[in-house]
Amino acid sequence: MDVNGIEPGWVKAFSSDLAQARDKFLNAARAAGAARVESFDHQLAGPDGERLACDVAFFGNPAARHLIVTISGLHGVEGWAGSACQVAWCHEGQATRLPADVAMLHIHAINPWGMAWDRRQQEDNIDLNRHFVDFAKLPDDHEYSEHVADVMCPDTDPEVRRAADARLAAFLQRAGRRHYGMVLQGGQYHYPDAPSFGGAAPCWSHEVLDRILATHCARAERVVVCDFHTGYGPYGYGIPLWHLSPGRQLDKARLLFGPTLEAPLAGEGAEDEFIQHGHLYGHVMARLPGRDVIAMCFEFGGEVLRPGQRALLERADALMWRDRDPLEQETRDARRRWRQLHVPDRDDWREMVWVRGRQVLRELTARIGQID
Ligand SMILES: [Zn+2]
Repeated sequence: MDVNGIEPGWVKAFSSDLAQARDKFLNAARAAGAARVESFDHQLAGPDGERLACDVAFFGNPAARHLIVTISGLHGVEGWAGSACQVAWCHEGQATRLPADVAMLHIHAINPWGMAWDRRQQEDNIDLNRHFVDFAKLPDDHEYSEHVADVMCPDTDPEVRRAADARLAAFLQRAGRRHYGMVLQGGQYHYPDAPSFGGAAPCWSHEVLDRILATHCARAERVVVCDFHTGYGPYGYGIPLWHLSPGRQLDKARLLFGPTLEAPLAGEGAEDEFIQHGHLYGHVMARLPGRDVIAMCFEFGGEVLRPGQRALLERADALMWRDRDPLEQETRDARRRWRQLHVPDRDDWREMVWVRGRQVLRELTARIGQID
């Protein structure tokens, strides 16, 4: 509520559960005149037995030369900001302001199970941003096996846990940040319970995404993907994040997203950055050959954390899902805290998200046809 007791529009665009988010998205998309609305049902249910689905809405001319694609919920629990941006974009009548040769495709909750159950991962512990690999030729992750027991060591015996942490710290010291990150966070494909698991075969979200790309994205000459996440960066601030190698597409991304774009693998300090396998962005390029694809992550910062705290919380989340019932009270509380970390329950945060979300979608709409 603002000082006059009026709930601003951007507050209404946020949801507290997936059923509500789906309702808001589908109603807003239809009211805003979407040319096509589609739903892809998931086989599992949410914590209250609710139906789970990924919903899609296409706006503008299907033959438009330029297409903007927004994605929410790739990392499930992070999906509430992207969902709100998609809903608010519809509420504000932005669809009527699309230029004739620009179309918009909103993909809502591409990982609906993770969004409903407060997990970054899917129901099978797959991290979707480590998942888009060639499953016949998996990245080499043999070093992960030397450390997985320490990573997944439970907290129940403090002495045992301390010893495991000491071994991980020694590995970091010995290997350096880059190699340590490559091994433990770069993506692993043989330990389904452990963090950074990329899967062993294409999962449901992968197949749904490929169908959406084939149906809606193959006609455009240029496709810009803005994949909304939360949890990286300063509280509430939106950062365009380029995960691929530098090159012409990065130059174009800089023109589209402006000077705040971060590209860890380009420029100063790039040699210290570790590569993560299986991001969505290279996959979209491979799926749309001959198209000018500029595929980006867009991160909104969540709660402020101490250095190193995030890694501890991620481990606790992995152990909880391995060992506990997700519906018992203690687990429900932990899930709620985990969500608030990514999506702070404050109106100032929500306002920052939509100010930046509106800005970036407006800039993309204006610039997508002008960067040649
Ligand atoms: Zn994420």
